Amino acid sequence: GGRAPRGSWSPDSSGSPSLREPRYRVVLLGDPGVGKTSLVNLFAGVQERDLLDQHGGAAYERRLTVDGEETTLVVLDTWEPEQQGEKSQRCSHCLQVGNAYIIVYSVTDRDSFESASELRIQLRRARQAEDIPIILVGNKTDLVRCREVSEEEGQACAAVFDCKFIETSAALQHNVAELFEGVVRQIRLRQGGKKS
Ligand code: GDP
Repeated sequence: GGRAPRGSWSPDSSGSPSLREPRYRVVLLGDPGVGKTSLVNLFAGVQERDLLDQHGGAAYERRLTVDGEETTLVVLDTWEPEQQGEKSQRCSHCLQVGNAYIIVYSVTDRDSFESASELRIQLRRARQAEDIPIILVGNKTDLVRCREVSEEEGQACAAVFDCKFIETSAALQHNVAELFEGVVRQIRLRQGGKKS
């Protein structure tokens, strides 16, 4: 059956008032500069609830109500390719721990779009047997004149890779709430289908 690793990110938060409430880990992947931190900051709002995960990445926690049900999302913003040495290790770790993944590229940067496909392939390899929700995100749609990747290309890529797709603008706060609500819905769909 599905064995979602639980709790490794926040060992024994026994002070938590609602242990029955679902708590999901979402990992943000993508090239530097595509807007991951901006998106997660918008989602998390004030950063007073920041956590530090055990590998030094930033984790943001927020409760949200989607379709009338409350959920806690822990969002991990961990990809730090500047540190070449640690990159592969940290990344293989983040490929293991997510209940869902958000792969972000910038619509103004074709290289980041190519990287998104590579990340999708790595993820599939790392979690072969599992059906994990993945959302492909084209960010920075406000930069209309710098666009290098069309919405149609993004959609086509998502179709090939069997992901959901959404375009966002962190700058205009466009589609950001929809993105994270969509993640929750995707996780619930999977869990409803085949819960052990
Ligand atoms: P990260 O490296 O993926 O975490 O990217 P950041 O969130 O640090 O963003 C990199 C740069 O892009 C910053 O200067 C952001 O202000 C800018 N940025 C992020 N999202 C958007 C967006 O939707 N529109 C525009 N115009 N700029 C953005």
